[in-house]
Amino acid sequence: MKKGNGLCDVCKGAQPIYRQVYSGVSFCDSCFKKSVEKRVRKTISRYSLLREDDRILVAVSGGKDSLSLLKILAKIEKTYPRASLVAVSIDEGIPGYRDEALRLAADMCRRLGVEHRVYTFEDLFGVGLTEAMSRGILSRLGLGACSLCGVWRRKAISLAARELKATVVATAHTLDDIVQTYLMDILRGEFPKAPIGLRREGNGIIPRVAPLRLIPEEEVVLYAYLSRVPFQETPCPNAQNSQRDLVRTFLAQFESRYPGSLFAALKTIESRIVPREEALTPCQVCGEPASKTICRACELESQVSRLSGEMGQLVRANIGVDDV
Ligand SMILES: [Zn+2]
Ligand SMILES: [Zn+2]
Repeated sequence: MKKGNGLCDVCKGAQPIYRQVYSGVSFCDSCFKKSVEKRVRKTISRYSLLREDDRILVAVSGGKDSLSLLKILAKIEKTYPRASLVAVSIDEGIPGYRDEALRLAADMCRRLGVEHRVYTFEDLFGVGLTEAMSRGILSRLGLGACSLCGVWRRKAISLAARELKATVVATAHTLDDIVQTYLMDILRGEFPKAPIGLRREGNGIIPRVAPLRLIPEEEVVLYAYLSRVPFQETPCPNAQNSQRDLVRTFLAQFESRYPGSLFAALKTIESRIVPREEALTPCQVCGEPASKTICRACELESQVSRLSGEMGQLVRANIGVDDV
């Protein structure tokens, strides 16, 4: 590629602040932000992710990805008067970590004029994540914090979507997140069963879409920074040493050495996915579509509450003894 004249390759007028290594294009601040927004619009139309009259639930954690997504969708939504947005945050009950993120999410929604709702694990499932960990419930179940959190968060979003009458759920998964998930599936010996973040209807499921699926994580971070989206930088205290963390580090190193690898992986994997229509039936407990008679979230809820009850009895017994 011909070496530029030191100016933004798009407007040819301003100083570039970012060079997109995989394309060779340099962007100034304003052209970069426009480019991200334009690519999100294109992703939405290319894959038919959203409809003109959708009620879109945006899952907002308070991190850079979800707040950037919210900002971009709020802009796009203005051009679709029949569409509406509602932001939902899940409070998993991780004191000191989630509080700041929830405040940032609430502030951002207020500024954008988007309705914001918060759902807590404690209200929905009877116990918060940190409490379940500190009481030893998770270790007795042989379950990592991220596993329980992932299953319950997904369920919480589905419940919120039904309650708020959303027709689609938009999540902030980036190119990196999706390739990580595919690779984790493969490393566990399973080829991905369905493409992530593409609109699939049917089976009574509210479809989930990922409008940032073609934007690399690095560019979402830069977008958030340049757009002055205030976001929480502290990573989740439970996320270190997770499987995903290992895969993330490997992929990031690989991409920086061989730019374009993430796009190549996404394209190759998705071209080979054969989506199977899974026969889903309503969960006997909550009614959400499930592949077994009882969904995983309800199964975990009953195990956690059983252990929690047993341990509560132990604690009460001990108090009784001490009191005597
Ligand atoms: Zn420019
Ligand atoms: Zn259920």
